[in-house]
Amino acid sequence: MSTDNSMKKSSTNENAETPSNFIKTIIAEDIEANKNNGRVATRFPPEPNGYLHIGHAKSICLNFGLAKTFNGTCNLRLDDTNPGKENEEYVESIQDNVKWLGFDWENRLYFASDYFDKLYEYALELIRAGKAYVCSLNPDKIREYRGTLTEPGKESPYRNRSIEENLELFEGMRAGKFKEGEHVLRAKIDMAAPNIVMRDPALYRIKKEHHHRTGDQWVIYPMYDFAHCLSDATEGITHSICTLEFENNRELYHWILNQLDVPCHPQQIEFARLNLSYTILSKRKLIQLVNDGHVTGWDDPRMPTISGFRRRGYTPESIRQFCERIGVARRDSVVDIALLEYCVREHLNKVASRYLAVIRPLKVVIINYPENEIEQMEAINNPEDPSMGTRLIPFSRELYIEKDDFCENPPKKYFRLAPGKEVRLRYGYYITCVDVIKDPDTQDVTEIHCTYDPETRGGSSPDGRKVKGTIHWVSSQHSINAEVRLYEHLFTSERPGDCENFTDCINPNSCEILPEAKLEPALKNVNSGEYFQFERLGYFCVDTKDSTPEHLVINRTVTLRDSWSKIMKKKGS
Ligand code: ATP
Ligand code: MG
Repeated sequence: MSTDNSMKKSSTNENAETPSNFIKTIIAEDIEANKNNGRVATRFPPEPNGYLHIGHAKSICLNFGLAKTFNGTCNLRLDDTNPGKENEEYVESIQDNVKWLGFDWENRLYFASDYFDKLYEYALELIRAGKAYVCSLNPDKIREYRGTLTEPGKESPYRNRSIEENLELFEGMRAGKFKEGEHVLRAKIDMAAPNIVMRDPALYRIKKEHHHRTGDQWVIYPMYDFAHCLSDATEGITHSICTLEFENNRELYHWILNQLDVPCHPQQIEFARLNLSYTILSKRKLIQLVNDGHVTGWDDPRMPTISGFRRRGYTPESIRQFCERIGVARRDSVVDIALLEYCVREHLNKVASRYLAVIRPLKVVIINYPENEIEQMEAINNPEDPSMGTRLIPFSRELYIEKDDFCENPPKKYFRLAPGKEVRLRYGYYITCVDVIKDPDTQDVTEIHCTYDPETRGGSSPDGRKVKGTIHWVSSQHSINAEVRLYEHLFTSERPGDCENFTDCINPNSCEILPEAKLEPALKNVNSGEYFQFERLGYFCVDTKDSTPEHLVINRTVTLRDSWSKIMKKKGS
């Protein structure tokens, strides 16, 4: 099996012109004013401490999208300044995910750890300029001295160490002479600053941990605020786009760059992060789901990770389209997950072939159909795209239909199969239920006996009689067995992040396994990752991990029910 997400025909609904947003407006004005000589350089800077999620996809689409719109560049930078939590698996998954989403950093893959020497030099430069000092207060005291929103902080007793002493201590920190927490390097700014971030923030701390790239070379590591702005400046970034929680850090970002001789001074612009209903988008919590076994891994099809959506059958086009539709703003909001489902449905509707499959099989015997007869019924592969052609489906005396499509005591307006009732088999004949066979012990329906009308081949009758229900089926002797996995939201709460303990609102029914599904024979040689529609049931794909030619495993990506359009109609838009 190949592992590509193969499809019959690739098409996207992305226009060359994408809608505007406030960041595009800022950049367009900067170009107009010839700021940075009209150059545009962005970056996507994930920390390799987990897999990327759909929120990161928003940032990826934004940063790479802006570079594309303005003929600029976008770097991929692994922000790996926190050893212990970071590793190579994450580094690889990030690159893999960004590529799969359809973006290309060309030869601009960078690691913050590549700048450790340079960052150390910048720190020395700050110390020499009297703008940084080694503080020996313990972490609790540092916190205590910081003050509050309403009270100014207190200066550290170590604040006025001489430059020589600071240099010696900082070099000693680097040489491993001290224990973790014994000293930190802090910027010397203003302990009374209204913005708490500016109250002598830490720039370097001692951390005796193995780094996945630099090994044991370093025992001090730069803080995010120090490493980030200087990495941006080093790479010649013009527009450093980040989420709103860094708004207060912007002042420090610029302060650091203003003290140092840097090649470029980027502009920081904040936007609202993506929040999605029924979904957790916090790496810390996603790690907990994985480590505590609530899901089978980072790429579990219920996970909101890019790897999870990919395995679930989402296409890169549909995720990009979603990111386009949600737009970019400075106001926090929660996006309805129905919109994401709408986007994948919309794309798969265009590109996915239709098939017949029965996921909860009930046997039907057509008692007046000849024993050894097999007919080939012509079926349309995709009504949205005639170029995808037709195929033949075998019809025979014994079929499977969906258990749900039969009801022994049907309510009013039940138009599917019931005793004495007639129904249309998709691409087949009209059949009428004449007998119901039951297990004598359990009274469960085990088999339905029907008659067919030979005049109704193809789905209509010469006498024009009305048959309301059309159901799908698979010829029993020709069918292929498969395990089908159906998914629901991983959380029962619309805002699982608001639950006191988010694991308490995990949906116990988020995965239903149907081990005895029957597929039409055209699906015999499906590829790993291939996607299709099962008529009336939804869009599905072949699982890329658990499926083998001997044991097909198929994930439902999304049902056919469009709850998004309903929501929009209700809102009157
Ligand atoms: P998390 O909060 O999930 O742990 P993070 O912000 O720590 O995420 P990073 O690896 O630092 O994760 O994120 C890389 C980039 O992606 C950052 O620029 C960050 O602002 C952005 N990003 C992270 N989460 C979201 C989100 N939900 N919506 C939009 N952008 C996001
Ligand atoms: Mg972060």
